[in-house]
Amino acid sequence: MERPKWFRAARTVVLLAAALLLCMPGVREYRLKAVSAGDAADGMMQDAPDSVTDGITSDAPDSMADGKRIALTFDDGPHPYCTEQLLDGLKERNAKATFFVLGQQAEQYPELIKRMSEEGHLIGNHTYSHLQLRQDNREKFKEELIKTNELLEQLTGQEIQYVRPPYGTWDKRFEKELNMFPVLWTIDPLDWSSSNVAGIVKKVEDQAKENAIILMHDEYDTTVTAALQIVDGLKEQGYEFVTVDELLFD
Ligand SMILES: [Zn+2]
Repeated sequence: MERPKWFRAARTVVLLAAALLLCMPGVREYRLKAVSAGDAADGMMQDAPDSVTDGITSDAPDSMADGKRIALTFDDGPHPYCTEQLLDGLKERNAKATFFVLGQQAEQYPELIKRMSEEGHLIGNHTYSHLQLRQDNREKFKEELIKTNELLEQLTGQEIQYVRPPYGTWDKRFEKELNMFPVLWTIDPLDWSSSNVAGIVKKVEDQAKENAIILMHDEYDTTVTAALQIVDGLKEQGYEFVTVDELLFD
């Protein structure tokens, strides 16, 4: 989806509103409390990367023997042009990534979902329609997760266990109800708000560290170019690009 400037501005407003809402005690139960089953992290918003980072890295296994591992994650796809370019570039570089896809996009571009799976990438759920969880739409949100899981499982033959809730809003009870684990991020270069490839690359490279999770969106040309430059640059620094399950559970 190409998103015009007004959409980006609107999304920023929504994110800010979400951040405000989440500071209110009444909705605290919806705050995401965990990055994975075992790692407690009380952070979820894009402006709070440090607490998320701590949650992931403090209990991280020592994997020095394998080199430094890092994960690229892409939300909101698949996109008919950008995702294909990205998959080509990742394949050339033997880099793995995690795609948190929208059910409605997967339905339109099933071949891209199959290709992701065949090429060793991990596929996660980002709801069917990019729905944000609120106090009054819990059942609808849950239905979207289930519908998208069924669709993805049909396409890949694999159980879908990871979810990136839109805007980071989550209800921990879903983890037991659906056997799904939320995955947030530790590096957010705001790729959707900038067409400056060098700036996006620099933001990620400046914050890169072992076990980091990078948030990007595979629906912009600039993101694809930046992501592939990030892979090249960080590989030179000894990083290996892996799927998020390898960081969270190995
Ligand atoms: Zn999204």
